[in-house]
Amino acid sequence: MHFVNRTLSLFIIFMSLLSCSEKEPVDFIVVNARVYTSNNSLPIAESFAVKDGVFQKVGTTEEIKKLYSAQRIIDLKGQYVYPGFMDAHCHFKGLGEMLDRWADLRGCRNMVEIIGRLKEFRKNHPAEWLLGRGWDQNLFSDKQFPDNALLNKFFPEVPVYLMRIDGHAALVNNEALRRAGQAISKPIPGGEVIRVKGIPTGVLVDKAMEPVRNLIPAMSNQELESALLSAQQACLSKGLTAVCDAGLDAKTIHQIEKLQHEGKLKIRVSAMLDPNEETLNEFLPKGKYFNKRLAVTAIKLYADGALGSRGALLLKPYSDDPENKGILVTQPERIRDLCKQALAAGYQVCTHAIGDSANRLILDIYAEFLKDSNDMRWRIEHAQVLAPDDIHKFGRFNIIPSVQPTHATSDMPWAPLRLGHRVTHAYAYRELLEQNGWLPLGTDFPIEEINPLLTFYAAVFRTNVQGNPPGGFQFENALSREQSLLGMTLWAAKASFWEKEIGSISAGKKADFVVLDTDIMHATAYQILNAKVLETWIEGECVSKISSND
Ligand SMILES: [Zn+2]
Repeated sequence: MHFVNRTLSLFIIFMSLLSCSEKEPVDFIVVNARVYTSNNSLPIAESFAVKDGVFQKVGTTEEIKKLYSAQRIIDLKGQYVYPGFMDAHCHFKGLGEMLDRWADLRGCRNMVEIIGRLKEFRKNHPAEWLLGRGWDQNLFSDKQFPDNALLNKFFPEVPVYLMRIDGHAALVNNEALRRAGQAISKPIPGGEVIRVKGIPTGVLVDKAMEPVRNLIPAMSNQELESALLSAQQACLSKGLTAVCDAGLDAKTIHQIEKLQHEGKLKIRVSAMLDPNEETLNEFLPKGKYFNKRLAVTAIKLYADGALGSRGALLLKPYSDDPENKGILVTQPERIRDLCKQALAAGYQVCTHAIGDSANRLILDIYAEFLKDSNDMRWRIEHAQVLAPDDIHKFGRFNIIPSVQPTHATSDMPWAPLRLGHRVTHAYAYRELLEQNGWLPLGTDFPIEEINPLLTFYAAVFRTNVQGNPPGGFQFENALSREQSLLGMTLWAAKASFWEKEIGSISAGKKADFVVLDTDIMHATAYQILNAKVLETWIEGECVSKISSND
């Protein structure tokens, strides 16, 4: 009898305990997933609870179900979840503009093919200027810069402006040159007008593009809005929940903020400022600026051009052009002046530097200002070719290299021709990662594809999508899968001072995540290339979902 009583009372205590510890209501619970969190303290989980757009807790399905209740329980049946991907260096507005206004010339193997694409494009885009982007003479049989003869033949009256794949050269027709007038005939510091027997061929490199580019009418507010939304759609479908745009003016930033406020633009945007006076005067006095899904923390500068168009500034001449060392795009005094302003405002400086000479110049200028170890997170964008003696400066002054793994696999067919033996110190991602212990990854889209899984693939395997070269290009500089995932999540966020809000699936952070059909942490190269982003979530809202017939 005594025993029964005791059992009964224990039972009553147990029941009352259960009702006391009522489950906490949340908006939804994700269960039965394989969650790669990018959070060191719990790298793999199964389940999480989300309330008001924030992860409440991450753990096992059993654990989360015990603690939380929700109307909506999402059973992922073993699918794979990752933090929302972030591209640490891209051109988000540029992508939108390209999608809406520019003919896509990527992959063209000759001028005849380019003309064909332009004619097709022109049918639906009867604008004042005919714009195109993405040609690459490395795909032509002679690998030489083209001339504008065919453009003049087929488009004698419309001005035509065709940007090279890297954005550092343009092919324009004679009508565009005529409109630029005198500006093209005198020498242009930081640029080059390519001529044959004194006559411009239509190819303009780096700063020489500006006199023509400045004539292209800017997008109206309505066109800008449409471009930003086009870019967003493309990004969300690839699992990007945040982007860092490497160079925006005040007008575009205002438009982004407005569209975010209206709920039309869901994606997070971190903006590097174009260094024009109006933009700097507006933002620098406020210090680093954060407003919900917008971050403004950096100034973008250019030290040199790109390797493909031989604009990258090298210490010694190009191996395939012994007269040429490339182009210094911004004078050191100007760079110093902007570093000074940035330091005073608490801003990052993010400088494009590709050649070993440009990298040395920027590392040394940064060092003058940073002096010692620091947490300013000043960045070198691309950090592509480095003199071996310079690499330690990244660690010494906590300068952050911001790299794009698909550049390595895109450039590898011709980079050794440009650089000779120097190529062994190019695209040195692992070496660069070791400098600070973290490394943000991006794509530079629309120069490369948007898809962050191609970044992961290129970083891990160092091969092109055909799997070449076997064993990988300079494989000693491959990254591990864990490092690559961190590079496109937590470390990308950290590169924009966003790591407390996003970048990992951790309690207290915004619920930005993606669902994939593939376990990229274990899959084969082939499986990764074919992985699908099933769903993209930002702050607890599903913003993109693959339709069942895809
Ligand atoms: Zn860029």
